Amino acid sequence: MTRLRLAVIGVGHLGQHHARILATMPDVDLVGVVDHNIDQANNVARKLRSRAFESHEQLLNQVDAVSVVTPTSYHHSVAADFLKNGVPVLVEKPVCRTVAEADDLIHLAADANIPLQVGHIERFNPAFEELVKRPIRPKFVEAERHGPFTGRSVDIGAVLDLMIHDLDLLLALIGGPVDDVHAVGASVFGGHEDMVNARLLFANGCVAHVTASRIAARPKRRLRIWASEGYAGIDFVTRKLTLVQQSEELRRHGLRLDPVSKARLKDEVFGRYLEVRSVDGDRKWDQLTNELRHFVECVRTGARPRVTGEDGRDALALAERVLNSVRNHHWNGDENGPTGANDMPKPAGKLFERAQSEAA
Ligand code: NAD
Repeated sequence: MTRLRLAVIGVGHLGQHHARILATMPDVDLVGVVDHNIDQANNVARKLRSRAFESHEQLLNQVDAVSVVTPTSYHHSVAADFLKNGVPVLVEKPVCRTVAEADDLIHLAADANIPLQVGHIERFNPAFEELVKRPIRPKFVEAERHGPFTGRSVDIGAVLDLMIHDLDLLLALIGGPVDDVHAVGASVFGGHEDMVNARLLFANGCVAHVTASRIAARPKRRLRIWASEGYAGIDFVTRKLTLVQQSEELRRHGLRLDPVSKARLKDEVFGRYLEVRSVDGDRKWDQLTNELRHFVECVRTGARPRVTGEDGRDALALAERVLNSVRNHHWNGDENGPTGANDMPKPAGKLFERAQSEAA
């Protein structure tokens, strides 16, 4: 098998892991790592026995495919240069800054008939891969994505940094269109929004509550689904899927509520009436390795990626609707009152101090 020549553009926090994993693949030659910060590029290249470059333009004609892991503001310009040269691209999420930029990349890839994949990595989380094999049609979904503040990705806010993962998963699971979006968000450090909650109403009647925070003390990434088929819960951190369905007995005979059964109900709800199964995805590949292997496979075969440019664009379009709703939310229910993530009502006092009437 011929070895594919790959390069990673942007080898900061995440890109160095793209490079590390690609360097271990038997059918890949990591021919270069690019970073505007040449010291960073040199460090990564030295560890991985690759070559360091300061600009992606130096590699335009020397690669079979690239992974673009620069900050979002550069995704469009860097990815477009490669697509125009007929080079397939994996671009990190969010695909671009705007839907118009994403559409441009989609057209460039279609014109050249080459794969454009977007790095919505949770689609490759083994727990999510297990879920989509099951016949589940969600009716209510609760998604939570909390992370500690890292000081990275400050060119975007919590919606484009974190919530967009869940928006993509919801679109993949439920399908659009989304009829209604209502969201609130708050900026704690004064830049973009740091915490957001959105309620989405899908045209098929499914309701989703989605929360993202990038200033949480502890990481939490989970999805909980109610459906007529049962309940599914995913912990993306531990890569575990929990499934609950009605037992055969419950389906046939309903709940027995005679005095004896009632006394045992607490112990028998799970097991006798509701069957529980845990699927541990932790023994398989991690999601970044899965994602990169899939990309390499698509480059080799020309197959359509699992997460296409269109998927990235649709998630971004939904994220823009969430952001619009955050901007237009009236905190006091008053049209002339404060709106948005930064322009919040003035604090009534300090939270650690009791209000005057309470303190008395
Ligand atoms: P980072 O700031 O740690 O790294 C970005 C690197 O790119 C830096 O080293 C910077 O010097 C370099 N760079 C900037 N512009 C460049 C250019 N034009 N050419 C070459 N190098 C350039 O950022 P990060 O946390 O690694 O995030 C990078 C991207 O990955 C962002 O789009 C982010 O949204 C995405 N990301 C995705 C996930 C995920 O779960 N899929 C997680 C984290 C970050």
